Amino acid sequence: MSVRKIVHIDMDAFYASVEQRDDPQLRGKPVVVAWRGSRSVVCAASYEARRFGVRSAMPAIRAERLCPHAVFLPPDFPRYRAVSRLAREIFKRHTDLVEPLSLDEAYLDVTENKTGLPTATRVARAIREQIREELNLTASAGVAPNKFLAKIASDWRKPDGLFVIQPEAVDSFLLPLPVGRLHGVGKVTEEKLKSLDVETVADLRKLDLSILEGRFGRQGVRLYELARGVDQSEVIPDRPTQSVSAEDTFEHDVQLSETEPMIRRLAEKAWTASRKEVRVARTVILKLKTSEFKILTRSHTPHAPPSSCEELTDIALSLRERIELSPKQRFRLVGVGLSNFRDPDEAAAEPALFA
Ligand SMILES: [Mg+2]
Repeated sequence: MSVRKIVHIDMDAFYASVEQRDDPQLRGKPVVVAWRGSRSVVCAASYEARRFGVRSAMPAIRAERLCPHAVFLPPDFPRYRAVSRLAREIFKRHTDLVEPLSLDEAYLDVTENKTGLPTATRVARAIREQIREELNLTASAGVAPNKFLAKIASDWRKPDGLFVIQPEAVDSFLLPLPVGRLHGVGKVTEEKLKSLDVETVADLRKLDLSILEGRFGRQGVRLYELARGVDQSEVIPDRPTQSVSAEDTFEHDVQLSETEPMIRRLAEKAWTASRKEVRVARTVILKLKTSEFKILTRSHTPHAPPSSCEELTDIALSLRERIELSPKQRFRLVGVGLSNFRDPDEAAAEPALFA
């Protein structure tokens, strides 16, 4: 079995750090990124706010109680996405095997790397330096022989830290850890393990595979492996999205002139889906299926990528004019799609989009 070299990069308090970077007045202050409102949760908290017990995913109201003098800001995802994309460009200088977990986290397989740096530790160090110098942000990195250990390692010296688990040091690192640190071990599993007198990974390792499998099924097999520092999962680079679309079948076949409400609804769906992409779509597609199951598609690539749901909807509706069939023709299905995704820089005739 060959040993992989995996780096897990995790930007520190990412959204809050971007806010502090871009507004010097926020530096050194507790900053909480969250929408206002009773049901809102914290998206990110600066380290200054964490000192008061504020954490991501906690209700925003609770954060306000813990740290009333914190600066509360609504999230600005287009800006965070733009920074995230720049971070990914840095990763890609070192390896093509990059698996993003979210806007601020990614696994990198650097077993072979593009820069010729001799060790994974050197690669992690270079990436952290580049993030600091080029993005003015800090990231923590974990280096290990597999994904599961690399993720624990990146958390070990947070913030602005680097922690390396060499293959020969896996046991001495892993065995004293509480089982709750293992991936997928939540409160429930932790309690169940406690009833088996298992509190640390060392305790867990004493249990036979058959016992773990009997108690936990497939998760038991996973626990058995994790207790031994084994994780064969590969770094799977994300394949860039080619297109997003939404389509629906009418209850009764309709004429072209009656498709507008449905097109509006589908355009909204496609637009929402496209917002989750780092890249922007340039081409709008309208798809129709006739009562006879014949599929027609019409597309349009405007000079600048559609920048709002209204714009997308208008283009989709206008594409109907290019369906040259009898007005009596009936349709059973309509779809609206976006394709031709490009990096914002490349796609934008409109820099305001990511300003
Ligand atoms: Mg993070």
